[in-house]
Amino acid sequence: MSYDPANIFARILRGEIPAYVIEDTDHTLTFMDIMPKADGHALVIPKEGARNIFEISDEALQHVITQVKRVARAAQRAYPGKGIRVIQLNGSEAGQSVFHLHFHVIPSADGMNFGFHGGAAADEKSLKENAQRLKQALATLA
Ligand code: AMP
Repeated sequence: MSYDPANIFARILRGEIPAYVIEDTDHTLTFMDIMPKADGHALVIPKEGARNIFEISDEALQHVITQVKRVARAAQRAYPGKGIRVIQLNGSEAGQSVFHLHFHVIPSADGMNFGFHGGAAADEKSLKENAQRLKQALATLA
């Protein structure tokens, strides 16, 4: 599948759909998530058209992650006492629903109850096997 320029975030970038924009930079747009998981839930997207972390150029990704840090710092200031979650999904299997790369920045106070952590520690064999699997894949990367 290739990047679909009709996706909702591309339309926001082109100004075809309104958004609650927080900051517009040369390489990124930051705006409120319309269905927030918590007050202050913002999204940071690159202006480069890329569906996910695999497709974006390293240069554009650097701009995005720098902006994510900036927005996370602002959220920390704007929502004192909250922790700041940064979440990014790749592929529908991972729960991604809009196929223009985006990072969620979410002020959060529900601790371990947000359902991300596994329920129990894996056994040693499984941890070792999975570590090996990732190490082998890392070794094949440029
Ligand atoms: P993901 O599941 O990571 O792809 O997240 C997509 C996010 O985009 C969801 O949290 C939606 O609430 C949000 N979203 C969808 N449409 C819009 C929109 N028009 N403006 C702002 N946020 C949106």
